Amino acid sequence: MVMSDSPTISTPADSPHSPANLISELCASFYRLGWVTGTGGGICIRAHSHKVYITPSGVQKERIEPSHIFVLPYPQAEPSPHTDRISLRRPKLNLKEPACTPLFWNAYTIRNAGSCINAHSQNAAMATLLWEKEKVFRISHQVPIIDSMPNEADLKDSMKKAMEKYPRAAGILVLRHGIYVWGMSPSNHLGDVWQKAKTQTEVRVKMKLAGLPTVLDE
Ligand SMILES: [Zn+2]
Repeated sequence: MVMSDSPTISTPADSPHSPANLISELCASFYRLGWVTGTGGGICIRAHSHKVYITPSGVQKERIEPSHIFVLPYPQAEPSPHTDRISLRRPKLNLKEPACTPLFWNAYTIRNAGSCINAHSQNAAMATLLWEKEKVFRISHQVPIIDSMPNEADLKDSMKKAMEKYPRAAGILVLRHGIYVWGMSPSNHLGDVWQKAKTQTEVRVKMKLAGLPTVLDE
């Protein structure tokens, strides 16, 4: 549903500083780095507290253009696979919003996040397999691992439970799938948050594969 009486928002493609431009640039770099693959994964940014910019599904991540980005008002009834989401702006092309929208919403409502990334990097998926029994990936803090589901949107409740159980976790790993990582405020350094998580994941996966202890008391 598109709000017909919604306040006019600038077309994301109009401004080089628009989150829509940032998202398409980040998607292309993340694709080259192997953090997102094909059409999988996604990014969302909450700007000015009340507009959420989200990548579409079904578009190769390195080919996402600013005009492909969905803009949703925040707050709104929590998006789920079964509710009609309200949009401020939908792409002119007939694109679908990603299945991860309800999970991104967890990051906003539970953590007051400014942005959230769903990455499908091999290291993240490998970490879930190496720590599958423990259900927790321990770095400087703990990152819970939740089971995957055929429909990604249905992870919403198990992700929420894990976020409540581990209030300090900066992300949630999804078994054989990837990771959801969020940053705390709209002005945060998105790259910073994610690069830290990525580096930590890569280093720990390599240590574990080499048979080395990955936390001091292990
Ligand atoms: Zn995903």
